[in-house]
Amino acid sequence: MDARRIDAVVVGAGFAGLYMLHRLRGLGLETRGIEAGSGVGGTWYWNRYPGARCDIDSLEYSYQFSDALQQEWEWTERYATQPELLRYASHVADRFDLKRDIAFDTRVVSAHYDDVGQRWQITTDRGDVFAARWCVMATGCLSSANLPAIPGRESFAGAAYHTGRWPHEGVDFTGRRVAVIGTGSSAIQSIPLIAEQASQLYVFQRTPTYSVPAHNQPLDPEVVRAVKSDYRSFRERNAEQAFGFGSRQVRQAQGALAVDDARRERVYEERWLEGGLPFLSTFSDLMLDPAANDTAADFIRRKIRTLVADPAVAQRLTPTQVVGCKRLCVDTNYYTTFNRANVSLVDLREEPIEAIDAMGVRTARRHVDLDDLVFATGFDAMTGALERIDVRGRDGRPLKQKWSAGPRTYLGLATQGFPNFFMITGPGSPSVLSNMLPSIEQHVEWIADCVAHVRARGATTIDATRDAEDAWVEHVNAVGAHTLFPSCSSWYLGANVPGKPRVFMPYVGFPAYVSKCREVVARGYEGFTVA
Ligand code: FAD
Ligand code: NAP
Repeated sequence: MDARRIDAVVVGAGFAGLYMLHRLRGLGLETRGIEAGSGVGGTWYWNRYPGARCDIDSLEYSYQFSDALQQEWEWTERYATQPELLRYASHVADRFDLKRDIAFDTRVVSAHYDDVGQRWQITTDRGDVFAARWCVMATGCLSSANLPAIPGRESFAGAAYHTGRWPHEGVDFTGRRVAVIGTGSSAIQSIPLIAEQASQLYVFQRTPTYSVPAHNQPLDPEVVRAVKSDYRSFRERNAEQAFGFGSRQVRQAQGALAVDDARRERVYEERWLEGGLPFLSTFSDLMLDPAANDTAADFIRRKIRTLVADPAVAQRLTPTQVVGCKRLCVDTNYYTTFNRANVSLVDLREEPIEAIDAMGVRTARRHVDLDDLVFATGFDAMTGALERIDVRGRDGRPLKQKWSAGPRTYLGLATQGFPNFFMITGPGSPSVLSNMLPSIEQHVEWIADCVAHVRARGATTIDATRDAEDAWVEHVNAVGAHTLFPSCSSWYLGANVPGKPRVFMPYVGFPAYVSKCREVVARGYEGFTVA
């Protein structure tokens, strides 16, 4: 089949793909979006499980590139629900007339660089072939569902679901015996709601989770008015925070051990009442000093003991790892759900799962009979969606081979030997360790400016240099190693996927990262070769 020559292909129509398409079109590029789902929204299209909502305040977890958009859109709650976020994505797509350039229900299966024609040959599962100068992967960091290789998984005779592939028509668990496997963020959000419907809910927990209360509520019109009266400054203040959000929450400039016990307790209590992820920024050194971190961990552990009535259950729910090294969860009634008579905690450290069979799950101690099985088992994060595509760069070199010992990128935006190929929130950028909307916008704008720069110079390609990439990978590792983030088995490290190389993938520190990206541009795209 003849390839259709166009300027750019953007893979994915989540928040990243939508904005990228808008920007490339703005440069006058003929651009095609390709999306495996039937609609826009990405994460919010796929994750329709009960309780799904963002856990960063919606006033911050939203686009800022259009002031008219951020002024006109009205969020109803502190943390928008999945349906509201999906409506927002669809509104943005309509407002900027994006859908006409997106092929839905279409999956990109390969992207091969043609050295001679200097184009990306991109093929889809519908047989389309595009020859594009630019290829942008907006495929998502948490879009590739991870189903555990438990023996017999396919033999379950009841209904099985993954939180990230939830049926659009919803699921009614009324009167059913349900298991949730996993206790990460997706499980934490869905368990309290599934428990209200199910006749019996079994929570299969491998690692206990730290969670802080969301304190979700309808948005106070006064707060909205104050933010909207000077949205730009609000966004700027958030961009100065280590993780790119949370400027309204009060932080202590000092370390946790610099204050006395009574004051520390009071501050944690205040933050607990405020709710949300900024709890992890209460003191300046919580992710740097194990002793400081332990004060926060101890505070949450004590909260668990007060929230959970049965001391033995509370003990099983109590985490021991560093708080924050697995992503902190934000919940509504998670721990107290275990006080319900119809909820049982199955501790997989005491009784590992041996197999799944037609009737349910068999652990080392018992058989649990089930009607429904919910896999809240997460994602092949950051690299999964990219590596599921057969990407080949110069000389036909597969991306998968290049990344066999872990992802290697320059700035998390590009990877050497793959010219004109960009990743939005790729490994080596703050991405999942930040408010992802501003990170997405920062990447999209950087890529659009870069494309414009290359074209303005009359050039056709841009590629990272090996030296710049090596230095960046080393820097990302060094910064990560200076923190407590890599201190336990987490998906940040790829540890949740058997056989995946263990490399700490995100870059810690949004403001420093943004400065570095600006500096690279100011120095004439330092670390890149434009040809
Ligand atoms: P996605 O939204 O994942 O979109 C990627 C799209 O690419 C998908 O639609 C996928 O179908 C498509 N795609 C992938 N591969 C292909 C292919 N080969 N061919 C065609 N299409 C393809 N982040 C926050 O900052 N705050 C939050 O509160 C928050 N909550 C989250 C809650 C959940 C349940 C999850 C899973 C993630 C959450 N995140 C949150 C992270 C979230 O993924 C990002 O905030 C953001 O939505 C990512 O947008 P994206 O466009 O980069 O990727
Ligand atoms: P996750 O954090 O990776 O959690 C997966 C859970 O499944 C973990 O408890 C894990 O246990 C367990 N698990 C995996 N394989 C297992 C197996 N073979 N047997 C038993 N248990 C197993 O995935 P997630 O909850 O979907 O969240 C992923 C990320 O998406 C989050 O960290 C967050 O960034 C984002 N998210 C955000 C929200 C939000 O509140 N806005 C909601 C959902 C997701 P171990 O810990 O032992 O590996």
